[in-house]
Amino acid sequence: MNDSFPVLIADDNAVSRRRLELTLKKAGYEVTSVDDGKKALDIFNERFFPVVITDWVMPELEGPSFCRAIRNTKTPGYVYIIILTAKESKSDIVMGLESGADDYLKKPFHDAELKARLKTGLRILELERSLRRANDEVKRLSIIDPLTGCYNRGYLDTQLTKELKRALRYKNPLSIVMTDLDHFKTINDRFGHRCGDRVLKEFIRVLSGSIRKDLDWIGRYGGEEFVIVLPETDLKGAAVTASRLREATAENRIPFDDSMIQVTASFGVCSISERDGLARKESGTSLTEQFIQCADVYLYKSKESGRNCVYTGPFVT
Ligand SMILES: [Mg+2]
Repeated sequence: MNDSFPVLIADDNAVSRRRLELTLKKAGYEVTSVDDGKKALDIFNERFFPVVITDWVMPELEGPSFCRAIRNTKTPGYVYIIILTAKESKSDIVMGLESGADDYLKKPFHDAELKARLKTGLRILELERSLRRANDEVKRLSIIDPLTGCYNRGYLDTQLTKELKRALRYKNPLSIVMTDLDHFKTINDRFGHRCGDRVLKEFIRVLSGSIRKDLDWIGRYGGEEFVIVLPETDLKGAAVTASRLREATAENRIPFDDSMIQVTASFGVCSISERDGLARKESGTSLTEQFIQCADVYLYKSKESGRNCVYTGPFVT
């Protein structure tokens, strides 16, 4: 466990620094040590250390200032700081703790005491890590559609508004593809909702496999309707993507019980570009809605022309 909490040591006294290093390495910690607070701060700014042990009196940057600097830095997690001191007075100890240290240790330190105090620190760090993980999971669940694993409607609305804003500001193209499974109700009626769920999951799996990783993304608009967001993609590029998505969907065979299900989907592609004169338009939620509505109109047109096809057009409001 200790090796997942690297320790940074700052102490200008070579003997004391060496002893700290050896004691902690023997206890299984990964240790980096330097002889001044300033060097320690430089290293800390380049690499995160969850545990810092710092001397008080050092030539360039003293312990309390180093502690304050750490507390003023945005870090990916909590930093547990122990300050070493030869100072005895209560007011000094209070000052050390007020500068941001979590604990203090009197010099010369006792090996067992140092290890015991570090263990206390690790308990706090472990707790903080597990809380952070739980928090991240809650955040993730709040934006994911539980059935298909793509983004949910809330995320679609807020994130697409951001994408639109960015595209208009930097005059980048942005396209969305609205898609809807053809005759989805029939599948539910004929094979049941368990099959419907399976088909939806498969649909998203196929779509996800046919878009650019880490750039394009999918949001569930509602029911069997989804929006695929294609940043930095003009209408022509988006039309190519949509055709690929249409083909991949139609070619996929979905085994369900003793049947092999085959579905198709219709697509409406809508795109903004500088030419559309949108650069001066106010971006906001209503523009996002209009963008989606526009793609929905094109989707409707592809439904009208017999389904399993792609209809494209510019963003007109
Ligand atoms: Mg010193």
